[in-house]
Amino acid sequence: MILRFTSNSPEDTLAIARALGEALLPGDVVALTGDLGAGKTLFCKGIGKAFGIPPDRIVSPTFTIVTEHAGPIPLTHIDVYRIEAVREAEDIGIPELLSGDGICLVEWGERIAELLPTDCIQVKFTILGDDRREIAVIAPDHPRFHDFRVRSQRFQPGG
Ligand code: ADP
Ligand code: MG
Repeated sequence: MILRFTSNSPEDTLAIARALGEALLPGDVVALTGDLGAGKTLFCKGIGKAFGIPPDRIVSPTFTIVTEHAGPIPLTHIDVYRIEAVREAEDIGIPELLSGDGICLVEWGERIAELLPTDCIQVKFTILGDDRREIAVIAPDHPRFHDFRVRSQRFQPGG
């Protein structure tokens, strides 16, 4: 299913992300796509809130590539912006991280599309203006994502 949201502020984006976070289960992979400054890292902070991770712990991991957050459900935050080839991602063990039993968030996920699981959740950002973003969430047609749709209705057109 595809859900389209309009975010009018960073707070809206955090709220949408948190609602998605509440629908996630161990083993899920979320791939985030969009230009620099679109809100991918902010969205990861919102997902982290659903797992009790303070937002200031989730920062753009551009230089470190991988940051692991321990917890009842481990959350791995990956940013492949600086990865030049899928081979490089394989060399640093990203396939193993993606098939682990925590939750993986992958900024610039499209760059390693061939490594992502087929049931990966995709979040695509389009910058509409200073504080406005379109956020499209593509997720498997599973009841837990229907709950997410209901909880995030106020950000959907006509919702
Ligand atoms: P990315 O990780 O995609 O490069 P960030 O999440 O690091 O982007 O940065 C997004 C920036 O855009 C932040 O400074 C944030 O405050 C700003 N911003 C303004 N409006 C929004 C919005 N509606 N959603 C997300 N970010 C927004
Ligand atoms: Mg980022």
